[in-house]
Amino acid sequence: MQLSCEKGNAMKKIFFSLIFINSILFANINAIVSILPQETFLKAIGGDKVNITVMVKPGNSPHTYEPKPSQMKAISNADIYFAIGVEFEKAWLNRFKNQNRKIKIADISKNIEKIDIEEHSHGDEKHNDHDDHDEKDPHIWTNPNNVKIIAQNIYNELIKIDTANKQYYKTNLDKFLLHIDATDKKIKSILSQKKRKLMVFHPSWGYFAKEYNLTQIAIEVEGKSPKPRELKHLIEEAREEKVNVIFTSPEFSDAIAKQIANELKIPVVKVSSLAKNWSQNLIDLAKIISQD
Ligand code: ZN
Repeated sequence: MQLSCEKGNAMKKIFFSLIFINSILFANINAIVSILPQETFLKAIGGDKVNITVMVKPGNSPHTYEPKPSQMKAISNADIYFAIGVEFEKAWLNRFKNQNRKIKIADISKNIEKIDIEEHSHGDEKHNDHDDHDEKDPHIWTNPNNVKIIAQNIYNELIKIDTANKQYYKTNLDKFLLHIDATDKKIKSILSQKKRKLMVFHPSWGYFAKEYNLTQIAIEVEGKSPKPRELKHLIEEAREEKVNVIFTSPEFSDAIAKQIANELKIPVVKVSSLAKNWSQNLIDLAKIISQD
């Protein structure tokens, strides 16, 4: 009687310590990201160890986004916020911190060299000074080489908060880096080295354009639709440069792009830089650009 009771206690102890160990090894990290491509990157490295909440849902713009009450609740329960430097973060990260004092805010755009948003004069007198505003282009994830740095940053954060699974994250990181390299190679093989023009409504492809020797011509001017005179110039420029497609994205109205496209009798194609299938999305874009 005595013996079996002790045995029972011992079993209980083992049982509870197993639960305890399990809860350490399989403790899921509750993470928040701003945009869908980040979910893809974080999932690739964090695998099943990370629960991910995405702030900006498909069709919304991270320039103007405002979190919903249900998302503020997710913030309350989150361990870490992976910030990437998109516009709404500036207004909201502090509020997230107020909502949840324990949340860690990690900047995964760290070590990425940001480029200026290419200012296009659209026929207006040239900007007298290029420093009338020093906004950097936030769309860093459209260049695979930047995504390598982002991946490394995500890894560094994960192993800080979950050291026990370091090897798991490392294996995933290495696999993902290979995938990024393969993506980059594919895009390079699709796009020849000759200079091409990339006409877009919203200038979200600056890093992609720079990496693959393209020139981005944006219809939008500093977040606003072009004035009639600028529009006229854009149409002339597109004709001169033999632009054969205009890219718009679901986050923005495509009315003006369609107007230009009708004038030139070229198609409008919707591509979002915020697509979840990051790799295939870039490859598909390259394919459309390469068509003559
Ligand atoms: Zn944007």
